[in-house]
Amino acid sequence: MIPYGRHAIDEDDIAAVTAVLKSDWLTTGPAVSAFEAAVAGRIGAPHAVAMNSGTAALHAAAAAVGVGPGDEVIVPCITFVASGNAAIYQGARPVFADVDPETMLIDVADVARRITHRTKAIVAVDFAGQPADWPALRALAEPHGIALIADACHALGATLNGVPVGLLADASALSFHPVKHITTCEGGMVVSADAGIAKRARAVRNHGIDLDWRERAAQGTFAYEMTSLGWNYRLSDVHAALGTSQMGKLDGWLARRRQIAATYDHAFAGVNGFRPLSRRSGVEHAYHLYIIRLDEHYGAAGRAALYGRLRARGIGVNVHYEPVHLHPYYRNRFGTAPGLCPAGESAAERILTLPLHQGMTESEIGQVVDAVLAETQSLAV
Ligand SMILES: *Cc1c(COP(=O)(O)O)cnc(C)c1O
Repeated sequence: MIPYGRHAIDEDDIAAVTAVLKSDWLTTGPAVSAFEAAVAGRIGAPHAVAMNSGTAALHAAAAAVGVGPGDEVIVPCITFVASGNAAIYQGARPVFADVDPETMLIDVADVARRITHRTKAIVAVDFAGQPADWPALRALAEPHGIALIADACHALGATLNGVPVGLLADASALSFHPVKHITTCEGGMVVSADAGIAKRARAVRNHGIDLDWRERAAQGTFAYEMTSLGWNYRLSDVHAALGTSQMGKLDGWLARRRQIAATYDHAFAGVNGFRPLSRRSGVEHAYHLYIIRLDEHYGAAGRAALYGRLRARGIGVNVHYEPVHLHPYYRNRFGTAPGLCPAGESAAERILTLPLHQGMTESEIGQVVDAVLAETQSLAV
């Protein structure tokens, strides 16, 4: 099976990890700071706070912008469940906004309709590696004092109008899960230009223990204070060393992902029955995922048939994602139901993610193209 995503680990990565295993610091040491500096430097961001997952980064971002009990957080209906869960962890209520079916990015006009006096933050996903419409979201949020959180777990290395992902929202969450652009096995990071947000994210990462007190401890006093509720979201130095080593390969991998996406675009141009998700102007896409959408009349049954046929041919297609608000937990707890986000629900029935990762061979890319063309065209008959 050609997987939809896959990590790439080489001997340099392994050497970087074993060097840390032989060192004095396994966690909260210099490798974590070095990894934070590598990511911050690549993005041009003043602050980066490493976390032990992308989910922890989303939670820390929500806490750091002040999301709390009684608040509402607007979240797109099509995303990984973690984007919505981050609000719930903070005692807030996720409010689902629809997405544009052409891009699966959050629909800004629908966001505007869902703002209330309780809205504390908007989480937008830079879906598949394409930044959301951050200037429009900012124009909407700023007059109300609403914070902007980017779920940028798909989008390390993307830009919008020349501005890198990581600097488009007030706080941005990255993931280093093995299917993402670079990996630390498990890991994540909060990136921000705001010193206050970064400071609070650091506290969230370490039990809510105030960093100034830790600094005082380093200066010879045992005293520290826990000033807010935090968690243990620390990334180990072993994982961080892998991340720094992987960061050195990011640009080459982004170029390769863009090349594969261009090959798919070219092969599928003008073909009947489906279209790739579209790309907005001003976007430099990071291509975490390459997603096609079947025409409306195929419906969920057409997608299920195509999924089965491609899998049978060894093409590891996947679905990103089922609507979050239709998961049983959300339905039971928040009373969400079909019809809440009609455009996203309809599009979600007809999307399919094709294999795309830096390690794909030309032969594998050719196999994907041939299989997708053959099976979609026979489905159309
Ligand atoms: C991967 C991902 C996450 C969660 O990241 P983890 O590192 O697996 O916790 C959150 N949101 C989106 C959109 C993702 O793709």
